[in-house]
Amino acid sequence: MATGAASSSSLVVDEEDEILMLYGSESGWVEPKTRCDHLVSLSSDLTHIPTPDTPCNRCQHPTENWLCLCCKEVLCSRFVNKHMLEHYKLTNHSLALSFSDLSVWCFSCNAYLDAEVIMPLQSVHFTAYILKFNEPPPLRAMECVQITDNRADSSTSRN
Ligand SMILES: [Zn+2]
Ligand SMILES: [Zn+2]
Ligand SMILES: [Zn+2]
Repeated sequence: MATGAASSSSLVVDEEDEILMLYGSESGWVEPKTRCDHLVSLSSDLTHIPTPDTPCNRCQHPTENWLCLCCKEVLCSRFVNKHMLEHYKLTNHSLALSFSDLSVWCFSCNAYLDAEVIMPLQSVHFTAYILKFNEPPPLRAMECVQITDNRADSSTSRN
């Protein structure tokens, strides 16, 4: 009886590649996106928002909750009772601001958004920052924010 060593040379698909594609680089740090197609669902009044110490509306978890930027509900994170994630699944409200680090997450993009660059998010980020730290955020590269309207770059000869 020849006991052949089972030499099944079937190709094993490397699942890790797929995981990397889904979750970004191994470092865990992914550049926040500077644009998002889901901003239309933002609340029209983001100047009045709950304070960062507001507990989760569902389970009363006291800290590090998320603010829905569409309906301003405060809900806990996926590391607590996943109430914000649940809220997104029920309502399709994609945009949430973290009260722990003031980052903005888009569930539809599955990515962080750069709230200091994306115009419609600037004011709510600013407001949340003041509520949390009692002072305005440090100014970052002003050129990014300024709106200049000099599209006609005429060839004026300066002396
Ligand atoms: Zn988005
Ligand atoms: Zn909760
Ligand atoms: Zn909502």
